[in-house]
Amino acid sequence: MVIIVKKGADETQVENLKSMLRAKNIEPHVSKGSLQTIIGCVGDVAHIDPALIEALDVVESVQRIQEPYKEANRKFHPEDTAIDCAGVKVGAGGFSVIAGPCSVESEEQIVGIARSVKAAGATMLRGGAFKPRTSPYAFQGMGAEGIRLLSLAKKETGLPIVTELMDFKDIDLFNDVDVIQIGARNMQNFNLLKEVGAYTKKPILLKRGMSATIQELLMSAEYVMASGNPNVILCERGIRTFETALRNTLDLGVVTLLHRLSHLPVVIDPSHATGHAWMVDSVAVAAAAIGADGLIIEVHNDPPHAKCDGAQSQTPEMFARTMARINKVREALA
Ligand code: PEP
Ligand code: MN
Repeated sequence: MVIIVKKGADETQVENLKSMLRAKNIEPHVSKGSLQTIIGCVGDVAHIDPALIEALDVVESVQRIQEPYKEANRKFHPEDTAIDCAGVKVGAGGFSVIAGPCSVESEEQIVGIARSVKAAGATMLRGGAFKPRTSPYAFQGMGAEGIRLLSLAKKETGLPIVTELMDFKDIDLFNDVDVIQIGARNMQNFNLLKEVGAYTKKPILLKRGMSATIQELLMSAEYVMASGNPNVILCERGIRTFETALRNTLDLGVVTLLHRLSHLPVVIDPSHATGHAWMVDSVAVAAAAIGADGLIIEVHNDPPHAKCDGAQSQTPEMFARTMARINKVREALA
Protein backbone atom coordinates (compact mmCIF):
# COMPACT_ATOMS: atom_id res chain seq x y z
CA MET A 1 0.00 0.00 0.00
CA VAL A 2 1.19 3.54 -0.74
CA ILE A 3 -0.21 6.72 0.71
CA ILE A 4 0.01 9.82 -1.46
CA VAL A 5 0.42 12.86 0.75
CA LYS A 6 -1.33 16.14 -0.12
CA LYS A 7 0.89 18.88 -1.54
CA GLY A 8 2.00 21.31 1.14
CA ALA A 9 0.96 18.95 3.93
CA ASP A 10 2.02 19.96 7.39
CA GLU A 11 5.12 18.07 8.67
CA THR A 12 3.54 17.41 12.07
CA GLN A 13 0.51 15.87 10.46
CA VAL A 14 2.76 13.63 8.34
CA GLU A 15 4.63 12.60 11.50
CA ASN A 16 1.32 11.83 13.22
CA LEU A 17 0.30 9.66 10.29
CA LYS A 18 3.62 7.79 10.50
CA SER A 19 3.13 7.18 14.22
CA MET A 20 -0.37 5.95 13.58
CA LEU A 21 0.94 3.46 11.01
CA ARG A 22 3.70 2.28 13.36
CA ALA A 23 1.09 1.69 16.04
CA LYS A 24 -0.58 -0.68 13.58
CA ASN A 25 2.75 -2.50 13.02
CA ILE A 26 3.28 -0.88 9.63
CA GLU A 27 6.71 0.56 8.84
CA PRO A 28 6.36 3.80 6.83
CA HIS A 29 8.96 4.49 4.11
CA VAL A 30 8.77 8.13 3.09
CA SER A 31 9.78 9.04 -0.43
CA LYS A 32 9.96 12.79 -1.01
CA GLY A 33 9.96 13.45 -4.72
CA SER A 34 10.12 16.76 -6.53
CA LEU A 35 6.42 16.52 -7.38
CA GLN A 36 4.98 14.32 -4.67
CA THR A 37 5.60 12.85 -1.25
CA ILE A 38 4.47 9.28 -0.81
CA ILE A 39 4.56 6.89 2.12
CA GLY A 40 5.20 3.26 1.28
CA CYS A 41 3.75 0.92 3.89
CA VAL A 42 5.62 -2.25 4.76
CA GLY A 43 3.96 -4.89 6.86
CA ASP A 44 0.66 -6.68 6.96
CA VAL A 45 -1.63 -4.06 5.45
CA ALA A 46 -4.52 -6.47 4.99
CA HIS A 47 -6.15 -5.26 8.21
CA ILE A 48 -5.90 -1.57 7.24
CA ASP A 49 -8.98 0.07 5.77
CA PRO A 50 -7.78 2.40 2.97
CA ALA A 51 -10.93 4.50 3.33
CA LEU A 52 -9.97 5.39 6.91
CA ILE A 53 -6.52 6.58 5.83
CA GLU A 54 -7.96 8.42 2.85
CA ALA A 55 -10.27 10.32 5.17
CA LEU A 56 -7.28 11.96 6.88
CA ASP A 57 -6.58 15.62 6.16
CA VAL A 58 -3.02 15.11 4.90
CA VAL A 59 -3.86 12.25 2.57
CA GLU A 60 -4.51 12.73 -1.14
CA SER A 61 -5.15 9.07 -1.96
CA VAL A 62 -4.27 5.50 -1.05
CA GLN A 63 -3.19 2.89 -3.56
CA ARG A 64 -2.81 -0.84 -3.04
CA ILE A 65 0.24 -2.38 -4.69
CA GLN A 66 -0.87 -5.48 -6.56
CA GLU A 67 2.61 -6.75 -7.45
CA PRO A 68 4.22 -9.08 -4.88
CA TYR A 69 7.34 -6.85 -4.75
CA LYS A 70 6.77 -3.71 -2.73
CA GLU A 71 10.02 -1.95 -1.79
CA ALA A 72 11.49 -2.65 -5.23
CA ASN A 73 8.31 -1.35 -6.89
CA ARG A 74 8.32 2.00 -8.66
CA LYS A 75 4.87 2.69 -7.20
CA PHE A 76 6.50 2.57 -3.78
CA HIS A 77 9.27 4.98 -4.81
CA PRO A 78 8.35 6.89 -7.99
CA GLU A 79 11.75 8.52 -8.55
CA ASP A 80 14.85 6.67 -9.75
CA THR A 81 17.09 5.46 -6.95
CA ALA A 82 20.78 6.35 -7.01
CA ILE A 83 23.03 3.84 -5.26
CA ASP A 84 26.20 5.23 -3.73
CA CYS A 85 29.03 2.76 -4.32
CA ALA A 86 31.84 4.26 -2.21
CA GLY A 87 31.37 7.61 -3.94
CA VAL A 88 30.44 6.24 -7.36
CA LYS A 89 26.78 6.89 -8.18
CA VAL A 90 24.79 4.24 -10.03
CA GLY A 91 21.26 5.11 -11.16
CA ALA A 92 19.24 8.34 -11.40
CA GLY A 93 21.62 9.62 -14.07
CA GLY A 94 24.73 8.04 -12.57
CA PHE A 95 26.30 5.74 -15.17
CA SER A 96 29.09 3.46 -14.05
CA VAL A 97 31.29 0.92 -15.80
CA ILE A 98 32.59 -1.92 -13.66
CA ALA A 99 35.50 -3.70 -15.35
CA GLY A 100 38.06 -6.34 -14.50
CA PRO A 101 38.83 -10.01 -14.82
CA CYS A 102 36.39 -12.83 -14.21
CA SER A 103 38.66 -13.99 -11.41
CA VAL A 104 41.57 -12.57 -9.48
CA GLU A 105 44.67 -14.59 -10.38
CA SER A 106 47.70 -12.73 -9.00
CA GLU A 107 48.79 -9.34 -7.67
CA GLU A 108 50.42 -8.43 -10.95
CA GLN A 109 47.31 -9.40 -12.91
CA ILE A 110 44.71 -7.56 -10.82
CA VAL A 111 46.75 -4.41 -10.17
CA GLY A 112 47.78 -4.22 -13.84
CA ILE A 113 44.21 -4.64 -15.09
CA ALA A 114 42.91 -2.18 -12.50
CA ARG A 115 45.36 0.45 -13.75
CA SER A 116 44.45 -0.06 -17.40
CA VAL A 117 40.66 -0.10 -16.93
CA LYS A 118 40.89 3.01 -14.77
CA ALA A 119 42.92 4.79 -17.44
CA ALA A 120 40.21 3.87 -19.97
CA GLY A 121 37.47 5.34 -17.76
CA ALA A 122 36.10 2.44 -15.69
CA THR A 123 34.67 3.63 -12.38
CA MET A 124 34.80 0.34 -10.44
CA LEU A 125 36.93 -2.80 -10.46
CA ARG A 126 35.49 -6.31 -10.61
CA GLY A 127 37.25 -9.60 -9.90
CA GLY A 128 35.98 -12.88 -8.50
CA ALA A 129 37.68 -14.32 -5.43
CA PHE A 130 35.04 -16.99 -4.82
CA LYS A 131 34.00 -18.49 -8.14
CA PRO A 132 30.83 -20.51 -8.75
CA ARG A 133 32.08 -23.05 -11.30
CA THR A 134 30.10 -25.78 -13.04
CA SER A 135 32.94 -28.24 -12.51
CA PRO A 136 34.44 -28.96 -9.10
CA TYR A 137 37.76 -29.52 -10.91
CA ALA A 138 37.80 -26.01 -12.41
CA PHE A 139 39.61 -23.08 -10.72
CA GLN A 140 37.51 -22.12 -7.71
CA GLY A 141 39.07 -18.69 -7.12
CA MET A 142 41.76 -17.50 -4.72
CA GLY A 143 39.34 -16.95 -1.83
CA ALA A 144 40.59 -14.71 1.00
CA GLU A 145 43.86 -14.03 -0.82
CA GLY A 146 41.87 -12.84 -3.86
CA ILE A 147 40.05 -10.29 -1.71
CA ARG A 148 43.35 -9.11 -0.24
CA LEU A 149 44.67 -8.54 -3.77
CA LEU A 150 41.51 -6.65 -4.76
CA SER A 151 42.05 -4.37 -1.75
CA LEU A 152 45.59 -3.78 -2.90
CA ALA A 153 44.36 -2.87 -6.40
CA LYS A 154 41.87 -0.48 -4.79
CA LYS A 155 44.66 1.17 -2.81
CA GLU A 156 46.72 1.55 -5.99
CA THR A 157 43.94 2.98 -8.16
CA GLY A 158 41.18 4.29 -5.88
CA LEU A 159 38.61 2.16 -7.75
CA PRO A 160 35.86 0.73 -5.52
CA ILE A 161 35.81 -3.07 -5.70
CA VAL A 162 33.01 -5.46 -6.65
CA THR A 163 33.25 -9.17 -5.86
CA GLU A 164 30.94 -12.13 -5.43
CA LEU A 165 29.82 -13.56 -2.11
CA MET A 166 28.76 -17.20 -2.45
CA ASP A 167 28.50 -18.21 1.17
CA PHE A 168 27.57 -15.99 4.12
CA LYS A 169 30.25 -17.68 6.26
CA ASP A 170 32.81 -15.64 4.26
CA ILE A 171 31.21 -12.24 5.00
CA ASP A 172 33.94 -11.16 7.45
CA LEU A 173 36.39 -11.19 4.55
CA PHE A 174 34.26 -8.58 2.76
CA ASN A 175 34.94 -5.59 5.06
CA ASP A 176 36.92 -3.73 2.42
CA VAL A 177 34.64 -4.78 -0.46
CA ASP A 178 32.51 -1.88 -1.73
CA VAL A 179 29.82 -3.74 -3.71
CA ILE A 180 28.80 -7.31 -2.94
CA GLN A 181 27.84 -9.33 -6.00
CA ILE A 182 25.25 -12.07 -5.68
CA GLY A 183 25.72 -14.25 -8.74
CA ALA A 184 23.16 -15.69 -11.12
CA ARG A 185 23.44 -19.11 -9.50
CA ASN A 186 22.58 -17.68 -6.09
CA MET A 187 19.83 -15.28 -7.12
CA GLN A 188 17.30 -17.50 -5.39
CA ASN A 189 19.46 -18.53 -2.47
CA PHE A 190 16.93 -16.92 -0.15
CA ASN A 191 18.90 -17.51 3.02
CA LEU A 192 21.93 -15.76 1.53
CA LEU A 193 19.74 -12.84 0.39
CA LYS A 194 18.18 -12.50 3.84
CA GLU A 195 21.50 -12.79 5.66
CA VAL A 196 23.31 -10.26 3.50
CA GLY A 197 20.34 -7.87 3.58
CA ALA A 198 20.18 -7.95 7.37
CA TYR A 199 23.94 -7.72 7.88
CA THR A 200 24.96 -4.82 5.66
CA LYS A 201 23.74 -1.74 3.81
CA LYS A 202 26.55 -2.01 1.29
CA PRO A 203 25.31 -2.03 -2.31
CA ILE A 204 24.33 -5.47 -3.59
CA LEU A 205 24.80 -6.22 -7.29
CA LEU A 206 22.10 -8.82 -7.86
CA LYS A 207 22.52 -10.82 -11.05
CA ARG A 208 19.51 -12.34 -12.78
CA GLY A 209 19.36 -16.12 -12.48
CA MET A 210 19.78 -17.92 -15.76
CA SER A 211 16.21 -19.22 -15.68
CA ALA A 212 14.64 -16.48 -13.60
CA THR A 213 11.71 -14.37 -14.72
CA ILE A 214 11.77 -10.60 -14.27
CA GLN A 215 9.30 -10.95 -11.42
CA GLU A 216 11.55 -13.50 -9.71
CA LEU A 217 14.52 -11.12 -10.08
CA LEU A 218 12.49 -8.35 -8.45
CA MET A 219 11.33 -10.71 -5.69
CA SER A 220 14.97 -11.54 -4.94
CA ALA A 221 15.73 -7.82 -4.73
CA GLU A 222 12.73 -7.61 -2.39
CA TYR A 223 14.32 -10.23 -0.10
CA VAL A 224 17.41 -8.06 0.33
CA MET A 225 15.39 -4.86 0.79
CA ALA A 226 12.84 -6.39 3.16
CA SER A 227 15.76 -7.64 5.26
CA GLY A 228 16.99 -4.08 5.73
CA ASN A 229 19.23 -3.19 2.81
CA PRO A 230 17.61 -0.85 0.26
CA ASN A 231 20.76 -0.59 -1.88
CA VAL A 232 20.23 -3.08 -4.67
CA ILE A 233 21.53 -2.82 -8.23
CA LEU A 234 19.85 -5.18 -10.70
CA CYS A 235 22.06 -6.90 -13.26
CA GLU A 236 20.82 -8.51 -16.47
CA ARG A 237 23.34 -11.01 -17.81
CA GLY A 238 21.18 -13.01 -20.20
CA ILE A 239 19.12 -16.12 -19.62
CA ARG A 240 19.22 -19.69 -20.90
CA THR A 241 16.92 -20.41 -23.83
CA PHE A 242 16.76 -23.01 -26.63
CA GLU A 243 19.39 -20.94 -28.46
CA THR A 244 22.90 -22.34 -28.12
CA ALA A 245 24.77 -20.04 -30.54
CA LEU A 246 25.61 -17.64 -27.73
CA ARG A 247 26.39 -18.31 -24.09
CA ASN A 248 23.08 -16.76 -23.01
CA THR A 249 20.19 -14.90 -24.59
CA LEU A 250 20.11 -11.19 -23.79
CA ASP A 251 16.98 -9.08 -24.19
CA LEU A 252 18.05 -5.46 -23.84
CA GLY A 253 14.39 -4.44 -23.71
CA VAL A 254 14.53 -5.67 -20.12
CA VAL A 255 16.27 -2.40 -19.20
CA THR A 256 13.20 -0.42 -20.25
CA LEU A 257 10.84 -2.90 -18.60
CA LEU A 258 12.75 -2.95 -15.30
CA HIS A 259 12.87 0.85 -15.27
CA ARG A 260 9.09 0.88 -15.60
CA LEU A 261 8.50 -1.71 -12.88
CA SER A 262 11.20 -0.64 -10.43
CA HIS A 263 13.14 2.42 -9.27
CA LEU A 264 16.35 0.41 -8.86
CA PRO A 265 19.29 0.89 -11.25
CA VAL A 266 19.88 -1.68 -14.00
CA VAL A 267 23.34 -2.77 -15.10
CA ILE A 268 24.04 -4.93 -18.16
CA ASP A 269 26.71 -7.63 -18.35
CA PRO A 270 27.55 -8.07 -22.05
CA SER A 271 30.37 -10.53 -21.26
CA HIS A 272 28.30 -13.32 -19.70
CA ALA A 273 25.37 -12.48 -21.98
CA THR A 274 27.28 -13.24 -25.17
CA GLY A 275 30.28 -15.35 -24.17
CA HIS A 276 32.37 -13.80 -26.96
CA ALA A 277 34.89 -10.99 -26.53
CA TRP A 278 34.28 -9.82 -30.11
CA MET A 279 30.60 -9.20 -29.32
CA VAL A 280 31.03 -7.32 -26.07
CA ASP A 281 31.71 -3.93 -27.67
CA SER A 282 28.53 -3.67 -29.76
CA VAL A 283 26.28 -5.05 -27.01
CA ALA A 284 27.82 -2.72 -24.43
CA VAL A 285 27.25 0.28 -26.68
CA ALA A 286 23.65 -0.83 -27.34
CA ALA A 287 23.06 -1.23 -23.59
CA ALA A 288 24.29 2.32 -23.00
CA ALA A 289 22.02 3.54 -25.81
CA ILE A 290 18.92 1.87 -24.40
CA GLY A 291 19.43 3.56 -21.05
CA ALA A 292 21.20 1.07 -18.79
CA ASP A 293 22.60 2.63 -15.61
CA GLY A 294 25.91 0.88 -16.07
CA LEU A 295 27.83 -2.06 -17.39
CA ILE A 296 29.93 -4.84 -15.93
CA ILE A 297 32.57 -6.00 -18.40
CA GLU A 298 35.21 -8.70 -18.13
CA VAL A 299 38.70 -7.51 -19.05
CA HIS A 300 41.88 -9.60 -18.95
CA ASN A 301 45.48 -8.73 -19.80
CA ASP A 302 46.02 -12.16 -21.37
CA PRO A 303 42.62 -13.66 -22.29
CA PRO A 304 43.95 -16.91 -23.85
CA HIS A 305 45.57 -17.78 -20.52
CA ALA A 306 42.77 -16.56 -18.23
CA LYS A 307 41.81 -19.06 -15.52
CA CYS A 308 38.14 -18.32 -16.13
CA ASP A 309 36.05 -16.87 -18.98
CA GLY A 310 38.97 -15.96 -21.26
CA ALA A 311 36.88 -16.27 -24.44
CA GLN A 312 34.55 -13.48 -23.37
CA SER A 313 37.21 -11.23 -21.84
CA GLN A 314 38.19 -8.06 -23.64
CA THR A 315 41.83 -7.01 -23.71
CA PRO A 316 42.52 -3.61 -22.12
CA GLU A 317 42.84 -2.16 -25.65
CA MET A 318 39.42 -3.48 -26.68
CA PHE A 319 37.97 -2.13 -23.45
CA ALA A 320 39.42 1.34 -24.04
CA ARG A 321 37.79 1.42 -27.47
CA THR A 322 34.46 0.32 -26.02
CA MET A 323 34.65 3.00 -23.32
CA ALA A 324 35.27 5.68 -25.94
CA ARG A 325 32.27 4.48 -27.97
CA ILE A 326 30.03 4.31 -24.89
CA ASN A 327 30.98 7.88 -24.02
CA LYS A 328 30.11 9.05 -27.54
CA VAL A 329 26.70 7.38 -27.37
CA ARG A 330 26.00 8.86 -23.97
CA GLU A 331 27.01 12.33 -25.13
CA ALA A 332 24.82 12.00 -28.20
CA LEU A 333 21.82 11.06 -26.07
CA ALA A 334 22.39 13.59 -23.29
C1 PEP B 1 30.69 -13.47 -12.92
O1 PEP B 1 30.31 -12.30 -12.85
O2 PEP B 1 31.88 -13.81 -13.11
C2 PEP B 1 29.67 -14.55 -12.86
C3 PEP B 1 29.96 -15.75 -12.38
O3 PEP B 1 28.49 -14.14 -13.36
P1 PEP B 1 27.04 -14.85 -13.35
O4 PEP B 1 26.71 -15.06 -11.91
O5 PEP B 1 26.17 -13.84 -14.03
O6 PEP B 1 27.17 -16.13 -14.14
MN1 MN C 1 32.91 -14.66 -15.47
